[in-house]
Formats: sequence, structure tokens, C-alpha cells
Amino acid sequence: MKEIVVISGKGGTGKTSITASFAHIAGEEIIVADCDVDAADMHLLMGPDFGQSEDFYSGELAYIDQDACIKCGKCQEVCRFDAIPIIDGQYIVDPLECEGCGYCARICPTEAITNSEQNVGKWLLSGIRTGASMVHARLNIGAENSGKLVAKVKNEAKAIAEEKNKRAVLVDGSPGIGCPVVSSLSGAAFTVLVTEPTVSGLHDLKRVYTLVKKFGIKAGCIINKADLNETVLGDTKIFLSEEDIVLLAEIPYNDKFTEAMTNGKTVVEWDTELGKIVSGSWEKIKEIVKL
Ligand code: SF4
Ligand code: SF4
Repeated sequence: MKEIVVISGKGGTGKTSITASFAHIAGEEIIVADCDVDAADMHLLMGPDFGQSEDFYSGELAYIDQDACIKCGKCQEVCRFDAIPIIDGQYIVDPLECEGCGYCARICPTEAITNSEQNVGKWLLSGIRTGASMVHARLNIGAENSGKLVAKVKNEAKAIAEEKNKRAVLVDGSPGIGCPVVSSLSGAAFTVLVTEPTVSGLHDLKRVYTLVKKFGIKAGCIINKADLNETVLGDTKIFLSEEDIVLLAEIPYNDKFTEAMTNGKTVVEWDTELGKIVSGSWEKIKEIVKL
């Protein structure tokens, strides 16, 4: 069983549209994992049934027992995150500021402070309209993502793929280069980098590839909106060839991309020409990773 991870250095390159198209083409052969948990939107194209869900806990949050508090103010003094304001004469922990470091609980003279695990959201297992299963997640409002929820989504997807004897897990990774992306990449057999020929697109492609290289993962690239800027397109191709990154496809700018999305469809379902290009890149990936 292979893991194929689709990432982009920056948002707005069409990463999720392309991943959803791959999921549509592969159908029941794969398990889908939406690891872009900060801005999860693959479900909009995949029609999940939200069949099963489970709460996810990560990190800690301090709580002050007002009956035990003698209002000495020591906790407020030591909190480096200014997470303990005085409200109506009481020391209260602000859940949006508290980092759960536990320092305040250690120094409280009356043991009025306890730390407990935070419920940051849910992970879900859904049947989707391609006939496959998808593991995805929902963060609570204001909850902070970490690599842990991404790892949970991915590990559940892997376990299901192994149990059902599927050939691959297709992962929609997060944009950027932070913890969630690192977590998406670990264990991948192949990375698909989705970019666009703009100055920021090329900059972020180079930045995220530095990370991919550290993992020693083979990579391919899809240049979306390829006709936006001929000069940057040329520079992007030079970079790909210098780094031995396979050019999987060049997709010209096309309004149909957005049209498909707003109609809740994948690009391959919506437009034959775009569909051919995306299908061609999926065939190349299958050949490279020997699916
Ligand atoms: S350190 Fe403990 S007793 Fe002192 S203000 Fe904070 S919670 Fe209250
Ligand atoms: S756990 Fe840490 S961050 Fe949270 S209130 Fe206590 S000292 Fe501040």
C-alpha cells in the first residue's frame, strides 16, 4: 500500500480540486485522507455521508477552581501567554490564549489549578460518492491544529487501506511548510507538488520542496494556470529539471476549474479537455509508484 501526498507551497493553486479529481479517477481502488484540516474542503466535492465520527483531544487547558483560589495573583505573574485575566474580581483562564504549559498549576499555593485535555474537534470516516472511504476532520471554532490531528487522519486512512487491501492512500495535504505538512509527508511514497507560475508560487514551491527533499521523497509537479506568466513558467521548469522533479502536467488557466468547484464536481467530471490532462498526470503517477 502506497501513500501519495498532494501538497502546494501556497494556497489557491488548485491542489484540492486536483486531489479530488484523482480520487474520482481512482474510485474504489484507494482510500482518501483529507489532511488539510485547517481548511478542510474536499468534502464539498466528494459527497461524504459523515458515517462515523470521534472526538479528538490534543493539548491541555488550565482551569481555576474559584473556591480554592486565594487570589494571590502568582499564576497571572508567571503566565507568559497573558492567559489569566481578572474578570469580575476572579482569576480566569482564557481558553483562546492558554497554551496548556502547566506552569501556573505548579506554582499555585492552594492547588486550585488543574490541567485537562482539550477537545479540539472530530475526525470522521465517510463513504463518498466514488464508492471509496474518506477520512477527514473538523476543527472546533478557534481550535488550533497541530500535526497530531493530521497524523490521526492519516493513520486511520492507512489502517483502513490495509484492512480493505487497497492499493493506495491519497492524501490532500496542507499548504505551507508547518507541522501539518510535515505530518502529511511522513511515510509518503510520492509527493505531487501543485504550483502556479507566479513569483510567490515559484518561491513557495522551492520552499516546500526543501522540506520534501529532507524526507527523501520522490516528487512530481503539476503546473496549474500554466499560461499565466511565460517567464515564471520557464523559471519553474528550470527548477524542476535541476531538482529532478517530474513534470506531470501543465494545465492552462480555465474558468471551468472554478465552475466545477462551485457546482460540487471534480474537474474530470466537468470538462473533457481538463479531465484528459488531469487523468494523464494520474496515469504517470501510477506508473512511477507502480500502483
Ligand atoms: S496562583 Fe492559585 S491561588 Fe493564586 S491566584 Fe492563581 S489560582 Fe488563585
Ligand atoms: S497553563 Fe500555561 S499558558 Fe495556560 S494559563 Fe497556565 S501558565 Fe498560562
